[in-house]
Amino acid sequence: MVRLLLGGLVALAAALAGFIGYRTMSFTAPAPPAAVEIAAAAAYAIDADAAAARLAEAIRFRTVSLVSDDDAAGRAEFERFHAWMQETYPAFHAAARRELIGGLSLLYTWPGSDPAQPPIVLLAHQDVVPVPDDTRQNWRVDPFAGELREEAVWGRGAIDDKGSLVALLEAAEFLAAQGRRPARTIVFAFGHDEELGGEDGAVRMAAALKQRGVRAWFVLDEGMAALSRHPLTGAPAAMIGISERGSGTMRVHAVGQPGHSSMPPSETAVSLVAVAVDRIHDMPIEQRLEGGPALGMMRALAPELSFANRMAVANEWAFGPLLRQRMEGNPAARALLGTTIAPTMINGGVRPNVLPGEATAMINFRIHPRDSAADLLRRARHAVADLDGVSVDWAEPPREASGVSSTSSSSYALIAALSREILPDAPVAPGLVLAGTDSRHYAEVAENVYRYQPILLSAEDLEMPHGLNERLSVANFDRMIRFYVGLMEAGAMQ
Ligand SMILES: [Zn+2]
Repeated sequence: MVRLLLGGLVALAAALAGFIGYRTMSFTAPAPPAAVEIAAAAAYAIDADAAAARLAEAIRFRTVSLVSDDDAAGRAEFERFHAWMQETYPAFHAAARRELIGGLSLLYTWPGSDPAQPPIVLLAHQDVVPVPDDTRQNWRVDPFAGELREEAVWGRGAIDDKGSLVALLEAAEFLAAQGRRPARTIVFAFGHDEELGGEDGAVRMAAALKQRGVRAWFVLDEGMAALSRHPLTGAPAAMIGISERGSGTMRVHAVGQPGHSSMPPSETAVSLVAVAVDRIHDMPIEQRLEGGPALGMMRALAPELSFANRMAVANEWAFGPLLRQRMEGNPAARALLGTTIAPTMINGGVRPNVLPGEATAMINFRIHPRDSAADLLRRARHAVADLDGVSVDWAEPPREASGVSSTSSSSYALIAALSREILPDAPVAPGLVLAGTDSRHYAEVAENVYRYQPILLSAEDLEMPHGLNERLSVANFDRMIRFYVGLMEAGAMQ
């Protein structure tokens, strides 16, 4: 009987091993959808040095996001930037309709010859984050001088996001100057307050498009790029953002009996808020590959993964706990797999020997696409339901995660094909954008919203946007222009 049982177990183990092996071997990138026609973008006669000089000029306009409505000098910088665009890109401005929306945002419509085809909507933003005075000395150049050195354009906004904006204009001018016209309408939406949330720019431009009945083929914005060393594979990978996380801050409030601390009650406002924060911090959060871009990313990078990693992700049903354990210690992986919870502030009491009447804490959530703000709040309240005197609310209206765009659409295939054309060594994979972009406001304008700049960045380069010594290599700027020309041509230029 024992022998029979053992025999059965061995057979079962062998079958299981076979199954795991089969799943591992068959875990590969899904076949791309029907091949898309793309032009040989590498062959365009782009003068990258001349274009880079124009990007340097664009950086000299100090278009720092306007925090006050009556910042006349700040507005004037944006207006001068607008005038520069009109002077510098005359053929495009002659071909496209230009509208000012929300004060300083620019919405261009380059009408296609075939109105029956859904348009393409291309986003970039004009505004940049400031350079704080205490960081200025750590820049190797004046951040607003627009210097060209070491084969790169230096300055605030070089990557985020004037590089995109100017590359789009360069691409459109390149085509328009040849008298070419798209078959499909192309909309360019250049927000002026992306770094502040896009309420006056992107929100209004998206509303205008929606009101006009625009239902785009796709929307493309900044958000991700090609990495020279993907953390999972150690090799290049072009990451196309197909979703972005939401965020919100929960305020935990506890009331207690105020008085002297010599004969305290069993719980004080401080002990209550501490327990509540601990419970919410520890509440179970789903950490999985499925339900976001993670699984698609793993699949797309499967050929580059080590066998052990490929086996683990291909057989999440068996290795899930192991996988989660390995990823627990890696903040980047955790951010990809699930909502993250970070207690950030705690406040209460004024003296060591006085019981405060109340105490509060703030807990910052970054919301994964599988979770909703309402559900997270419900679960947080449930976690502290038995704590008398504790209440939990969103401190401000939270921002939900965006939807997850398709990786089997014709537009994803187009973006991927162009990326491979421009960056042949970087396999294309979908990714989750950890920050926020203007594109989240365009969910009703297109079913598929992608976030990708076709530039190759190192881990060090990723620190540049919003950081020090921001710069874009001329080679990367050249890639962007070629990519956008290819994108516009794929809309069937005439
Ligand atoms: Zn940006």
